[in-house]
Amino acid sequence: MSEKILLTADPKAGYEAHAAEIKAAIDRVLAGGHYILGPEVEGFEREFAQYHGTGAVVTVANGTDAIELGLGALGVRPGDLVATVANTVSATLAGIQQLGAKPVFVEIDAATMVMSAVALEETLARHRGVVKAVVPVHLYGHPADMPAMVASARRHGAKVLEDCAQSHGAVVAGRKAGTWGDAAAYSFYPTKNLGALGDGGAVYTGDAAVADRVRLLRQYGWRTRYVSEIPGRNSRLDELQAAVLRVNLRHLEAGNAKRRALAARYLAQLATSGLVLPTVAAGVTPVWHQFTVRTPRRDGLQSQLAARGIRCGVLYPVPLHRQPAYADAATNLPLTERACAEVLCLPVHPGLELADVDRVAGEIIRWASA
Ligand SMILES: *Cc1c(COP(=O)(O)O)cnc(C)c1O
Repeated sequence: MSEKILLTADPKAGYEAHAAEIKAAIDRVLAGGHYILGPEVEGFEREFAQYHGTGAVVTVANGTDAIELGLGALGVRPGDLVATVANTVSATLAGIQQLGAKPVFVEIDAATMVMSAVALEETLARHRGVVKAVVPVHLYGHPADMPAMVASARRHGAKVLEDCAQSHGAVVAGRKAGTWGDAAAYSFYPTKNLGALGDGGAVYTGDAAVADRVRLLRQYGWRTRYVSEIPGRNSRLDELQAAVLRVNLRHLEAGNAKRRALAARYLAQLATSGLVLPTVAAGVTPVWHQFTVRTPRRDGLQSQLAARGIRCGVLYPVPLHRQPAYADAATNLPLTERACAEVLCLPVHPGLELADVDRVAGEIIRWASA
C-alpha cells in the first residue's frame, strides 16, 4: 500500500475540513446579489479587526497590493528608501516597487532568520533620514523583534509596515503581530494560515486616517462614487473570497493550535537528528506557517524525502539581491545567503496528524544516520 503524499501546505484539505460551511457561505453570496465590496467584505473587515482587539482592516486584492497601498497610505513616495529583508518572497519587494520606492536590504538574525534589530539600527543610522519605512517580514510565522524595531524606526523617523503574510495570529511581547507597526499587510493566498479560495489581502492599522487613505487608494480614490479625491486604483476583494475568509477566520485559532502541536512533536522527535531546528525567541508565540530546519546537505535531504512521498518546500532558495530581476552585486548579506542555502520547510498544516510528523521525522533520522 502506498503511503499518503505529505505536502508543506494543503489548501484542499483546508477546504474539505470546512466544506459545508464554505459552500453555505458561497451560496449566501450567490443569492445575495452583491459581488464586490458588499456586506461580506464589511463583515470580514469588522471581524478581522476584532481579532486584533482594536483598529481597522481594509481588504484589498492581494498581499502585494496590501504592502503597496499600506506604504502609500503611510506617506512613502516614489524614490523613497524602504528597509526590508532579502529572504522573503518577491511579493514583498514587488509591493515596495509598485510604489516606485527602492529597497535597502537589512541582514537577518542568525538564529530566528527574521530581520535583525541590531542590523536595522545600523541601516537606519547609515541612511540617516532617507529610509522612510521599514518592512519586517514575520517569516515562517515567527515575528521579528517588534519592540526594538519600532523604537529604532521612531528614533530615525521611519514608519513601520509589518509583513504579516505568514503570521496571522502570532504574538510577540504579549501583543499580536501586526499591531506593533503603523500598519500591517496581510495576504490571504490559499496556502497562508488564513487563506481564501483565490487571491486576497488586507491592511490592518490602528490609525483611522491610514485606514481611510487605504480605503480611497483601493478604489480610484473614491470616497463618493464617481468622484476621485486622490489618484487611486482598483484593488478590491470580492464578496465570495470575503465570505470564505469569514468561515476560515473562525477556524484560525484551532488551525494555529494544531500547527503548534505538530511543531512541538517535530522539535521532540528531531532533537537528536543533527539538523538545526527552529529557534523561538523569548516572548514570541509563533504560528508555524512553516517548520523550517537547516542543514548544509539540504538538497540531498529534500530529494530523499521527496522519494518517500514527503514534499518539502524551500522558502526561499535565492535571496532577492541574487535574483535576475533584482541582482545587486554590491549587496552582501552572508547570514541571509547562508540561510537560503540551508533551509528546508517540512510539512506542517492543520490537515496533518502527529503520526504524519512521526513518519517525516523517522525518514529524517534514517537519512541522518545513513
Ligand atoms: C504570500 C506573501 C506575500 C504576498 O502575497 P500575495 O497575496 O501573493 O500578493 C508577501 N509577503 C510574504 C512574506 C508572503 O509570504
